Amino acid sequence: MPNENPLDNAACGLLEVAADGQIAAANSAFAQIVDRDQSALLGMRIQELLTRGSALFYETQFSPSLLLRGGLEEISFELLRSSGERVPVFVNAVLRRPDADREPRVFLAVFAARQRHRYEAELLRSRKEAEQLAEVVRRSSDAIVRLSADARIESWNTGAQQIFGYATSEAVGNPFSLLFAGDAFQELGTFSELKRGKDVNLETVGKTKQEQPVDVSVSLTPHLEAPGTLVGFSAIIRDMTKQKVAERNLLQAEKLASVGRLASSIAHEINNPLEAVTNLLYILNSRITDEDTKQLVQTAEEELARVSQIANYTLRFHKQSTDQIEVDLSMVVKGVLGVYRGRLQNSGIQIVDESSDCGPLLCYENDLRQVLLNLISNAFDAMRSGGKITIRCRELDRSGVKSFRIVVADTGTGMDQPTLERLFEPFFSTKGIGGTGLGLWISRDLILRNGGSIKVRSSQRANHSGTTFVLSFPRIDPTPFRSLTDN
Ligand code: ADP
Ligand code: MG
Repeated sequence: MPNENPLDNAACGLLEVAADGQIAAANSAFAQIVDRDQSALLGMRIQELLTRGSALFYETQFSPSLLLRGGLEEISFELLRSSGERVPVFVNAVLRRPDADREPRVFLAVFAARQRHRYEAELLRSRKEAEQLAEVVRRSSDAIVRLSADARIESWNTGAQQIFGYATSEAVGNPFSLLFAGDAFQELGTFSELKRGKDVNLETVGKTKQEQPVDVSVSLTPHLEAPGTLVGFSAIIRDMTKQKVAERNLLQAEKLASVGRLASSIAHEINNPLEAVTNLLYILNSRITDEDTKQLVQTAEEELARVSQIANYTLRFHKQSTDQIEVDLSMVVKGVLGVYRGRLQNSGIQIVDESSDCGPLLCYENDLRQVLLNLISNAFDAMRSGGKITIRCRELDRSGVKSFRIVVADTGTGMDQPTLERLFEPFFSTKGIGGTGLGLWISRDLILRNGGSIKVRSSQRANHSGTTFVLSFPRIDPTPFRSLTDN
């Protein structure tokens, strides 16, 4: 009875076939694959259930005499369903002799190929996913490190190699603490979270092969197998240097903003009493008849004018100018030098002013004044024992591109390389409490705002020491409309 066939429970189609192909037994799974009645299969020849090509192949390859040499595995066939539809299958075949007095029979196991294809595709996909994930790990700029249970490095990625500078072969086998400056990771056992299966996250200082410190964040994960059995750790280490620098810059910008606010309010507070004193001196002057006293009051007036100029020019550095105008550079230079008249006298410093050699420059006047003030002030500071400051202006025309070049050169002490590398940083100063370190930082900002650029050359060679700042501004020709509306 076919229904009692013990093969019916098998997940694949099973067939017992005589030497000529006559089906002696078939399970229900096979009947399902070919979409036929299980009992109707008995007595049919298997060739009738195959496409012509497959039938031919069956006749030549599945004869008992050939199968005697060994079974066949995963031969692909096409079966015919009752509707004529073709079903791709894989077939395994073996030859068996159930009992001595009977002819040997061919036993076939039939797998629907579609299902197998799906399994294969799924397998392929998960393998691809795993490979992609491995690639992400391998290429990550974060260091990803696998550690043994006793916290030795077992493997790591290129990110780790880049951060710490060791070749993989140098790192593997070493204790994790090799990568850190302090003793944060000497003893992983001190982290009770790890024992409880929890991650540990902390920020600390790493140490490269070249013994350089690196700010890093570390995330450690324990790998537990059976509850409580530690098999190892994984660590993800991120280089925080850039982020730390950005944080520091932000902090400095904030400091600067408050310094700016403070300075402008001081300038404001100073201006009012200053104006009052100026007026009082004026009245006083008009009432004095004695020439000597008149002279004294006049000197007081001049000094006072300088104070108000300083208050206006140097303290209000963060104030935004309103509009770009055409500026006569030599007038600005004269104004700035006026501020330093007091310092110039008896300083042994010679001023060479060649600023009247070029036409008007379209820019924010206050910005330009501020920049020149800062540059000239620095030049003074660099020439405690006298020297020469040259201020020069030229109009350039390089293949139709017109620009202004302003040069401020001194014969002062000059700068060493570390100073040159940092001089535009906010709060960088070599002058101790005498300097704010803001002058050049602000100057560069103002120059950029006006579309210009600033370059510096400096030398500390004996008898040839000095510093030259070169500012370049694009020359924008004033529009003809400007002169019309000016009238
Ligand atoms: P500060 O003048 O308050 O120190 P700056 O931003 O104006 O700040 O200048 C930064 C630093 O650059 C100075 O402390 C000095 O070391 C250097 N420096 C700038 N200009 C000159 C110069 N003309 N000669 C020598 N050193 C200079
Ligand atoms: Mg300065």
